[in-house]
Amino acid sequence: MRNAILEGADELMCRVSNQKIDLFTQLGKFVLPTGYWGKAAANEQRDPHVYMTFDDGPHPATTPYLLELLEQNGMHATFFLIGANCARYPELVRAIHEAGHVIGNHSYNHLPVSFLSAKQLQHELQSTNEIIKEITGTTPTMFRPPFGIMDQRATGCLKDNGLTPVYWSAAPEDWLIPGSHRVIRRVMWKVTDGTLIVLHEGGLLAGQTITAAKEIIYRCKTLGYQFSKVNVSA
Ligand SMILES: [Zn+2]
Repeated sequence: MRNAILEGADELMCRVSNQKIDLFTQLGKFVLPTGYWGKAAANEQRDPHVYMTFDDGPHPATTPYLLELLEQNGMHATFFLIGANCARYPELVRAIHEAGHVIGNHSYNHLPVSFLSAKQLQHELQSTNEIIKEITGTTPTMFRPPFGIMDQRATGCLKDNGLTPVYWSAAPEDWLIPGSHRVIRRVMWKVTDGTLIVLHEGGLLAGQTITAAKEIIYRCKTLGYQFSKVNVSA
């Protein structure tokens, strides 16, 4: 009985979280500048697919394990990297690139773009692109805004740097560290053709992210989904 009550409370908590994020997402689609939110396959013949994306890396507590997991599953993902972390762990950036995954720009210092001066914003975008290019030979074409915050001024600056904003469609609030089973549950409720899943890297989240990624990949595969890299350019 007690377990049933706890389970019910847990489910309710997860539904509230998803509804909150859904509301934020709907609002974002309305007020944020144009960008990519994930979408269904244009070709009806194609198997349904989802996108796995990882933000805030690279990080030694998550990146090597995620790369191993993705390799085991024969799939590719998209990593939105923080410039300062790239400077700290260039070998991890190289490993992501060499494994064939896509690397996007997630700013240099992970600050909300609207709070930066034009000069600071340009530095955040440009220096991250430069360090990724220096390590991998490839310049990112996609930008995921820290905290999901974007504005019109940033759109212009993104364009100048050859970047397109990439948003999300399944964000399980994993940054609040609710535990892997809640992250899995929240994501799986949202999964449909074209879902753009975001999970986060980092030391505090490591166990949760790795466990959740493993189970989400397994469940999506069981449901017949294929995994695609996000590939949009300015
Ligand atoms: Zn982030």
